[in-house]
Amino acid sequence: MSKKKIIQASKGTYDILPQDQTYWDKIRKVAQDTAADFGFLRIDTPLIEEQELFARGIGLGTDIVEKEMYSFSTKGRDKVALRPELTAGVARAFIEHGLFSLSQPLKLWSVGPIFRYEQPQAGRYRQSHQIDFEVFGSADAVLDAQIIQVAFWFLKKIGLKEVVLHINSIGCKDCRGLYRKALLDYYRRNTKKICPDCKVRLKKNPLRVLDCKNEKCQDVISQAPVMVDYLCDGCKEHFKETLDYLDELEISYYLDSHLVRGLDYYNRNVFEFFLPQQEDKKSLALGGGGRYDGLIKLLGGKETPAVGLALGVERIIGEMKKRGVKVSGRAAPEVFLLQLGNLAKRKGLKLYEELLRNKISVAESFSRDSIKAQLKLADKLQAKIALIFGQQEALDDTTIIREMDSGVQEIVPLSKVIKELKKRL
Ligand code: AMP
Repeated sequence: MSKKKIIQASKGTYDILPQDQTYWDKIRKVAQDTAADFGFLRIDTPLIEEQELFARGIGLGTDIVEKEMYSFSTKGRDKVALRPELTAGVARAFIEHGLFSLSQPLKLWSVGPIFRYEQPQAGRYRQSHQIDFEVFGSADAVLDAQIIQVAFWFLKKIGLKEVVLHINSIGCKDCRGLYRKALLDYYRRNTKKICPDCKVRLKKNPLRVLDCKNEKCQDVISQAPVMVDYLCDGCKEHFKETLDYLDELEISYYLDSHLVRGLDYYNRNVFEFFLPQQEDKKSLALGGGGRYDGLIKLLGGKETPAVGLALGVERIIGEMKKRGVKVSGRAAPEVFLLQLGNLAKRKGLKLYEELLRNKISVAESFSRDSIKAQLKLADKLQAKIALIFGQQEALDDTTIIREMDSGVQEIVPLSKVIKELKKRL
């Protein structure tokens, strides 16, 4: 007989098993609390969007759209893609539902899976999850600082306290042109010293040469002209104001003139978050973001300045585990319901429900018949009280309350059991 092949999770995807759910519960809870603390409203958008949304928003020449996006045609020949990030979908929803008519700035947050066809490795998956915070409708630098504050707040509450902020300004469409020209001139003088990928980047997306990881390019990168020297007055002022606010918040930052981010929609401030040991391996940022004042208009909406960020859940959980951040597991049940015999088993199902209705946390093992095995489990779960419901008790409509610590037992009528338990718990 041929042995059936065991099907495994698709490459670069993984299962979130019960033992890991405590990390996810904590992340969701802290994200929700942070959103409430800073006035963000929840939004959820579909995992599937029109391909054009990402082509227009993130940019056709970017790695994310060109190499990493899961794009396909449906049976009805619609060209769709699994979202490779959340911002474009949230921006589309903002326009589609006329959210600009709500009081601005409008703060929205979201959490969910993203899909990127990447070479899987530690901290890099094909299906991963992001938490997203976005602010629409204000160009004020105070919001750039506040969104960074939100990320620091969230990460601190999660238990990651030594976060390092890398920040840069990539200017606006006016000043970036001048910079791009200076960068191209410089690289043309140095083409012999750069890798083949950077030669392609110079044609398609010149700023990306700055975050090339190839050893060969590092010398050229270190001497390259820097964007901040080319910023127009408006962008310079915006950058300076943001840094002033960060000083006020006592958030220390590293001015990273090579930080450009891989998405076309950004302008002015861009930033990423690292833990100290990760800084040199820039690909393993915990999160990143920036201002995207042109995106809403580019997608067909009214001119709406915006700023936002995304945090990577898998990398955050990876660091929580590495650093031994404690997450509380399932709380011990107050009561363990033990049953013995058919009648007790049948009546026990209902008794269990009655305990729940009265907000008593309870556990059971209806499929185990041995009292000894059930007591052992009650002990393992650290229940305070065992409720023993045997054949005789089921006939008499009574039950035995046993204090697990002392072993002291008392028989009580079923009609009084809730009152008696509440007295003891
Ligand atoms: P990005 O906007 O591409 O910088 O993504 C924001 C954050 O999402 C990153 O800093 C990572 O923490 C996380 N992230 C992005 N892509 C992946 C991936 N393929 N696997 C795991 N995490 C990712």
